Amino acid sequence: MKYSDSIIDTIGNTPLIKLNKLAEGIPGTILVKPEYFNPGNSMKDRMALKMVEMAEEEGILKPGGTIIEGTSGNTGMGLALVAIAKGYKCIFTVSDKQSQEKINILRAVGAEVIVCPTNVAPDDPRSYYSVAKKLNEEIPNSFYPNQYDNPGNALAHYETTGPEVWEQTEGQVTHYAAGVGTGGSMCGVARYLKEKNKDIVTIGMDSYGSVFKKYKETGIFDEREIYPYMLEGIGEDILPKNVDFDLIDQFIKVSDKDAAVMTRRMAREEGLFIGWSCGAAVHGALQYAKEHLKEGDVMVVILPDHGTRYLNKVYNDSWMKDHGFLEEREFATAGDIIA
Ligand code: PMP
Repeated sequence: MKYSDSIIDTIGNTPLIKLNKLAEGIPGTILVKPEYFNPGNSMKDRMALKMVEMAEEEGILKPGGTIIEGTSGNTGMGLALVAIAKGYKCIFTVSDKQSQEKINILRAVGAEVIVCPTNVAPDDPRSYYSVAKKLNEEIPNSFYPNQYDNPGNALAHYETTGPEVWEQTEGQVTHYAAGVGTGGSMCGVARYLKEKNKDIVTIGMDSYGSVFKKYKETGIFDEREIYPYMLEGIGEDILPKNVDFDLIDQFIKVSDKDAAVMTRRMAREEGLFIGWSCGAAVHGALQYAKEHLKEGDVMVVILPDHGTRYLNKVYNDSWMKDHGFLEEREFATAGDIIA
């Protein structure tokens, strides 16, 4: 009989799919890796499992324990699935800019979710980082993975996603592109690929309102770069330990709007019903590819999560219109259908 022992055995081994329409006219091959094929519908399942396994090995997490994390939803989903399979409880702190869908999904899989304000400094006691830390101090036998600084995050991608990309492309990958949040998926994969072939170029997507690009280019942590933005999952107002700037050759900033428009195009033109940060990764990757890719090059773009979590945002025409994100062309089409 062929079956998995539990849901966690279905994590990883996501496919690699060629971009067709959206890559028309661009030399080389652009391949995307939709991580929504994971059981929790995001790449975060991989690192959730790794962080929990490492905590178990180190004796930090014992039977009956509680996992506490500040998570934008996807890491929470991954941790919740791992916790169910292994018998732990979960408490998650999320920022109030996260999709209601993401919060509902976490509660659906039995987690307790605490919603915290977004526009406060990370060291403010109300921030989702601070609340998670405090709960960890107060609750006995609790484990705070802290995906920003936990080496298991990047290690999961070094051990699984990186080798998958290398093997699926039969070592022909020349470029790797990913959005950067905690840095785990970019830097874990980048480390593996660059060890295999030091000439592989890595391109990290950053959001406006985040510190990464400026820090890479100047070495300065510039607080003036920090302002609110809507894109979920990429960009930060801190420098997580999982972001290894030496492994990221260049950053490209992607706006909320460009990311949203590309997310919708991916669903309609490629049949890939993906999340908002995936649109950011593809937008930045195509921008880079148009300028730099040559015949024979193979670019791989990681797509972190699934579209369901954004139905009330980027996939909602009224929301897109309210934010000035709907392009004239698309708006006219929507209007025609209504008329
Ligand atoms: N996209 C989404 C939807 C995410 O949740 C995250 C995680 N913050 C990222 C992209 C960025 O990935 P990483 O944390 O591995 O840098």
